[in-house]
Amino acid sequence: MSSDIEIARAAKMQPIADIGEQLGIPEDALIPFGRTKAKIGSDFLRSLADRPDGKLVLVTAISPTPAGEGKTTTTVGLGDGLNRIGKKTAVCLREPSLGPCFGMKGGAAGGGKAQVVPMEDINLHFTGDFHAITSAHNLLSALIDNHIYWGNALEIDTRRVTWRRVMDMNDRALRTIVSSLGGVSNGFPREAGFDITVASEIMAILCLSTSLEDLQDRLGNIIVAYRRDKSAITARELEADGAMTVLLKEAIQPNLVQTLENNPAFVHGGPFANIAHGCNSVMATRSALKLADYVVTEAGFGADLGAEKFFDIKCRKAGLSPKAVVIVATVRALKMNGGVAKEDLGSENVDAVTKGCANLGRHIENVKQFGVPAVVAINHFTADTDAEVAAIKAYCANHGTDAVLATHWADGGAGTETLAHKVVELAESDTAQFAPLYNDELPLFEKIEQIAKRIYRADEVLADKSVRDQLRRWEADGFGHLPVCMAKTQYSFSTDPALRGAPTGHSVPVREVRLSAGAGFVVAICGEIMTMPGLPSVPSANHIGLDDNGQIEGLF
Ligand code: ADP
Ligand code: MG
Repeated sequence: MSSDIEIARAAKMQPIADIGEQLGIPEDALIPFGRTKAKIGSDFLRSLADRPDGKLVLVTAISPTPAGEGKTTTTVGLGDGLNRIGKKTAVCLREPSLGPCFGMKGGAAGGGKAQVVPMEDINLHFTGDFHAITSAHNLLSALIDNHIYWGNALEIDTRRVTWRRVMDMNDRALRTIVSSLGGVSNGFPREAGFDITVASEIMAILCLSTSLEDLQDRLGNIIVAYRRDKSAITARELEADGAMTVLLKEAIQPNLVQTLENNPAFVHGGPFANIAHGCNSVMATRSALKLADYVVTEAGFGADLGAEKFFDIKCRKAGLSPKAVVIVATVRALKMNGGVAKEDLGSENVDAVTKGCANLGRHIENVKQFGVPAVVAINHFTADTDAEVAAIKAYCANHGTDAVLATHWADGGAGTETLAHKVVELAESDTAQFAPLYNDELPLFEKIEQIAKRIYRADEVLADKSVRDQLRRWEADGFGHLPVCMAKTQYSFSTDPALRGAPTGHSVPVREVRLSAGAGFVVAICGEIMTMPGLPSVPSANHIGLDDNGQIEGLF
């Protein structure tokens, strides 16, 4: 089969106005970026408020292998499949981060015959949203140091500035820096650093905001630093929220593109799935629900992280009520969860698949705890054998859940028709009774315990007194009602990435907690977390360039 970029380039794209028309979006409500990309205007979106919502379907996955299990690919394939069987469907995806494109090979616009296009644009600068977020973030950074320079009336403790700088590039050299060097006129030297743009709290804020007003309010709530007495200083106190909102007023409007089969796709927002919630924007999802009968969306990582945050953060905050969940499983990831090493994934191993199914089984149980019915999609790879696929189906049947083979990577929407029918059956049975895992009122530490015990199946949560005291202080300051955003390895239910399958009896150590007061969650950090990735020894940037026809080569 051709490479992703060859398939994407051969796509017969329709003008974006025609894609909009499929959803009933008038041409004058679109803000075009070239011929095949557009933003959807806020005025039009506001006019939809009283319409009924379509049915929301979440695509999540088992504990992944390092390569990813095909959630994005399956989301796109299922969207095309639903459209083929006559359901007006839009998919809602995250925008890829530009930095990683130059690191490891691989885009984030789907794969094979299930992609969104124009994929080169989507993977690179797209409609400039990430640049706007980078600018808004760094404006606030500049205002902080400027405030200190001009006398520091707010009494910012320069050792306790928590707001860093961002750029959309993998650059480990900037993780920790000393800023303001070079003399009196450059300010007061202090230790600082950079994160990648997708790790910015502004990205999470943009994705959770329901309007421009809500966006500005959240930007104002961002805590940028603390005083010596440990009281918090917000972006509002620096009078930064207005100017930041101005920089983001276009970025908050959802982007519309199309799948290879010319069906509508919203690609908007891309928060990290570790220190943030890892889902596309609320604005895009809500808009899509007003315009389509079915909306298929994806959450990052495996279901223990992605689906849990989708339910407990995004759906809770945005009042969304998903009707069905698709859990993506692959033979190769089940084999890895069954103990097979990465080098040995190529050969048939039914026993390992069956053993690895314990991981799948736990994700199924977990999703059901949220009251939403689930189906398993087996994302088919050419190396999978019939016996291995049969083993997954048999396991699922024993656990009361259907598993459907899906061949969208090779066949596009035709490869997900059976899955699409199953999803419609679940959604239209109207059996979903979505409820988040825990109530807003529960103390913060107990929220962490609920997730650790009921989703990760740990025995206990370990945390130093300093962590527990911090959580209590935030409760006293009025942040106790916030949900918790867990930062944990995606490779295991536990905090040890090597512990695959379905471990029990483990402990979850919470090393640190952070307050994202603007986004509206408390981050619990369990293990190493990376907010500025590095590049590998041979980055894909080395092989990216333009060919004689001016076309990009080496990108995927
Ligand atoms: P996720 O969203 O779970 O991270 P993606 O959908 O982005 O995963 O897929 C990860 C990579 O795997 C992509 O490069 C994609 O092209 C590839 N991929 C996905 N499904 C298949 C498949 N069935 N066969 C071969 N490659 C696949
Ligand atoms: Mg993905």
